Amino acid sequence: MKNVEAKQQPYRDLAFFADSMHGSLARKLRIFGIDTAYSSSISDDRLLWECNCQRRILLTSDKELFRRSSNKRIGSVLLQGRSEKENLVKIFGECNITEILFDSEYARCPTCNLKLEEKRKGELDDLKNLVPTKSFLVYSHFYQCSVCKKIYWEGSHKPSLVSLAKSVTQELSRIS
Ligand SMILES: [Zn+2]
Repeated sequence: MKNVEAKQQPYRDLAFFADSMHGSLARKLRIFGIDTAYSSSISDDRLLWECNCQRRILLTSDKELFRRSSNKRIGSVLLQGRSEKENLVKIFGECNITEILFDSEYARCPTCNLKLEEKRKGELDDLKNLVPTKSFLVYSHFYQCSVCKKIYWEGSHKPSLVSLAKSVTQELSRIS
């Protein structure tokens, strides 16, 4: 079942490198389960080198950097959207993706870009101490980053992520 789902969601195979101006966008792409590298202090030369070596698509609003990446035949998307949604539509549109979904099972740590591990209540001894009591009582599935150890749960962010995915998908179907 999971393989079928994965095939229907080819965007999860994409890999991006967001330039230093797009930290918030990088976090959002990670939450949607997409491998997105980001550094706030990387030089343009190093960024292009990393994109080339790691076969990552560059996300930038810098026209000069975009031109340099194109000259080096590095895949890149020039972002000029006035909103996060416009930029997401541009990114997925250029990658020929027609639908995105929010599924916490695929989410990556917004800080570390690593796929989160699902943890059930009882799997983590100290879960009760790491999660607010109300959330601990209400939710049964929690997710942990193996690097920063931060715990995530669907909580109040889920409806807005589901709705963002829906409106990006609607826009993608309109332009495709
Ligand atoms: Zn992390």
